[in-house]
Amino acid sequence: MNAVQTVLVVDDEKQNRMLLAELIKDDCRVILAKNGQQAIERAREQHPDLILLDVMMPEMTGYVVIQALKQDDETRRIPVIFISALDSPADEERGLDLGAVDYITKPFHPSIVRKRVRNHLQSVHQRNLLENLAMIDSLTEIANRRRYDEALETEWRRATRTGVPLSLMIVDVDHFKAYNDRLGHAQGDDILRRIARTLRVFVRRPGDLVARYGGEEFVMLLPNVEADAALDIANEIRIAVETLQLPHPASPVAPWVTISLGGTTMVPQEGTIDPDFFKQADNTLYAAKEAGRNRAIWHGEGR
Ligand SMILES: [Mg+2]
Repeated sequence: MNAVQTVLVVDDEKQNRMLLAELIKDDCRVILAKNGQQAIERAREQHPDLILLDVMMPEMTGYVVIQALKQDDETRRIPVIFISALDSPADEERGLDLGAVDYITKPFHPSIVRKRVRNHLQSVHQRNLLENLAMIDSLTEIANRRRYDEALETEWRRATRTGVPLSLMIVDVDHFKAYNDRLGHAQGDDILRRIARTLRVFVRRPGDLVARYGGEEFVMLLPNVEADAALDIANEIRIAVETLQLPHPASPVAPWVTISLGGTTMVPQEGTIDPDFFKQADNTLYAAKEAGRNRAIWHGEGR
């Protein structure tokens, strides 16, 4: 297992918290909460991989806590194991009905608790691996369009909240069909990999994302980057690709592979993504193509 996983242990009794933490601390990082309110806060802030949740707690019972967790997008997918002194099948059934993945009764057997936690962490790890695989473009090994769609949702919402600009760039390989026709698809695939690798270098800040949008088209999402700065980045990318001097015997633009780039910058005003966002970027890409390719144009800039 590569990354260290985190488990949130929730119990109103200190002795139980310490006992549980001691049992599992070799397999994960442990964070603690002593009541329901604290549990919900920690879960939201730290996104643990698993929660061990005591049922019997004053003020807010474990049943109430799990319902709150399941209603919140930030926490609803975190698996919860109930720890309870209530050991009737009805209690266990209620816990599982509320969405718990497991139910452990007190007093617990240390080795069983440890093994169950280990098993659940293993499934979380496998689920994450699968999800990551589903978000990666297999040819270029950068993010795929699905990952881009999700990132756009997240960044659009974040920018709406914080009032900062969001920039979108579309990158297209010039005369790529002619390249494939002349040199074959295997060589064409290699060009896409080389360009993806070059684009990746320009992912510099958290939130920046480069993805393969489809065919020979790539997108780059740049949160909190103004139009002029984004256009500078677009030109740096254009030059970086040209500098590779990958021979393109079928291009009327240059003896090597070039790209065209179009982009736009918006300050999102409301939660739903403005369809003009992509359209503007796409229009400027088209304008860059029309103007002779191997250039970058930004919506409202440099025209
Ligand atoms: Mg208790």
